Amino acid sequence: MSRRNIVAGNWKMNLDRAKATELAQAVAGRHAEAGSVELVLCPPSVYLAAVGSAVGLAANGTSPSGVAVGAQNMHDKASGAFTGEIAPPMLVDIGCRFVILGHSERRTLFGETDATVNTKTKAALAAGLTPIVCVGETLEEREGNRTQAVVTTQINGSLAGLSPSDLEKIVVAYEPVWAIGTGKVATPQQAQEVHALIRGLLASLASPAVAAKVRIQYGGSVKPDNAADLAAQPDIDGALVGGASLKADDFLGIAKAFA
Ligand code: PEP
Repeated sequence: MSRRNIVAGNWKMNLDRAKATELAQAVAGRHAEAGSVELVLCPPSVYLAAVGSAVGLAANGTSPSGVAVGAQNMHDKASGAFTGEIAPPMLVDIGCRFVILGHSERRTLFGETDATVNTKTKAALAAGLTPIVCVGETLEEREGNRTQAVVTTQINGSLAGLSPSDLEKIVVAYEPVWAIGTGKVATPQQAQEVHALIRGLLASLASPAVAAKVRIQYGGSVKPDNAADLAAQPDIDGALVGGASLKADDFLGIAKAFA
């Protein structure tokens, strides 16, 4: 089963409008360097429209370069009295095709649980967005030999109740918390082991055929010089990139490793 690798940039709360536009134009202009890899840019929400224009996004979320745009979070309701929140159909309305859900910063700093992620995942799918569902253990959990148990709970909780046809549409990002923004990347073997576990869990939730279609990204201090070894692993289908996604050279260098 061949899966199309996907490399997404999580810009977090960085850049300003001019720099976001410049970075998006650079990535779109050089997209050919990434070959067949699907590229997704996830700027802060206030810059989604500017980044969409910079990559030439059409109303249906496609662009001439193939570069797609995603949000970093969303609310689970379609509309209503939720001051400060953004609804899934609003993201679709401005051409977003992806949304990152359950990033470790959302889980730790904003109290998101597997139940929250589950509700949001269903809402994203209902709106026609592709959720990038993030899971991963802390250093304490890894050192306590609890990685498998923690990731199993997160996957089963975050994806509970999804139909097989919905499950095959999602992207999962395995992001060990100890590797995010720390410069400490998981070894390709450590990452592959958890990716294989996740694929097995997806097979139990749906079927091996569905699990074989789901793209599983690795995230956590991915850089151009460590991406190739990760890309060589059979169950690693791309990367979710934080810091290195803020520079076109680094982001495209990582994408090239997955091409
Ligand atoms: C992330 O926050 O999703 C991430 C992977 O960050 P970094 O690449 O900076 O470790």
